[in-house]
Amino acid sequence: MNIGFIGLGNMGAPMAANLVKAGHHVTGFDTANVKLDGVEIVASAQDAAKGRDVVITMLPNGAILRAVAEQIIPAMDKGATLVDCSTVDVQSARSVAEQASKAGLGFVDAPVSGGTVGAEAGTLTFMAGGSDTAFKVAQPLFDIMGQKAVHCGDAGAGQAAKICNNMILGITMIGTCEAFALADKLGLDRQKMFDVVSTSSGSSWSMNAYCPAPGVGPKSPADNDYKPGFAAELMLKDLRLSQQAAETADADTPLGQAATALYETFVEAEDGKGRDFSAMLPRFEKRGRD
Ligand code: NAD
Repeated sequence: MNIGFIGLGNMGAPMAANLVKAGHHVTGFDTANVKLDGVEIVASAQDAAKGRDVVITMLPNGAILRAVAEQIIPAMDKGATLVDCSTVDVQSARSVAEQASKAGLGFVDAPVSGGTVGAEAGTLTFMAGGSDTAFKVAQPLFDIMGQKAVHCGDAGAGQAAKICNNMILGITMIGTCEAFALADKLGLDRQKMFDVVSTSSGSSWSMNAYCPAPGVGPKSPADNDYKPGFAAELMLKDLRLSQQAAETADADTPLGQAATALYETFVEAEDGKGRDFSAMLPRFEKRGRD
């Protein structure tokens, strides 16, 4: 396929590289000065979009996605498909889907889980929203960049799944960190805590695959001085999206709200910025009960 790729950052660059490795022709654009083996870099988003079968965007947020969509939708060939893999608010995804449809284009919102490691290894999970036809066009590309793609429903359903997933992740990470900090103060050995919880009803991905305690469980950012990984500010971005969606949908999400407030304090008033989101553990360890 002839693919345009817009947003070649930490995630976009390895995803585009995997498409090149699989034999696709990839034309890329980023506002930063990027060079990527095998990707033809062009001077504008329109140039990356014009004449492509599929255009993939991997951008920081909904406002930037909307601005880029304004530029590329008129430039794309009728019948082509726009696939947005960024994590953005549901409203932005639906609004871009509508614009794309009016222009005779297919659209899939397809945010990902798996981080930069998954992007490099081609093992991302895609959660997709859009028509069956658009999903079918994108699926072979998801198969290259990832290990699983779930078609969740109409436009916006991919973003809805992503923010619900990450709201659970933020909540379980906080729960796991505060339980470790409590266990420490109760004199419980961390390895024993991991051995019990990882095979008991308190287990979760946060404990089992991404353990926030250094030296315990599989290798994780905790073993690398909490260098991200998945940065606390990105978790805050996703939690804010979940609360924005909850507000619009009139959904009661008290733990999502509490997790958002905690990450907000951690990133904006404490030392969380630039650290992995699992660095909540040393944060709790320093504190007593207020
Ligand atoms: P990043 O900041 O590394 O990459 C974004 C890229 O977009 C940058 O290279 C930036 O220069 C480029 N950009 C910004 N404005 C642009 C414009 N107008 N036109 C073209 N390019 C533009 O971010 P990332 O970590 O690659 O994340 C991208 C998206 O993926 C975000 O929505 C993020 O929430 C989501 N995500 C990230 C991770 C992760 O672990 N990093 C995991 C899952 C999802």
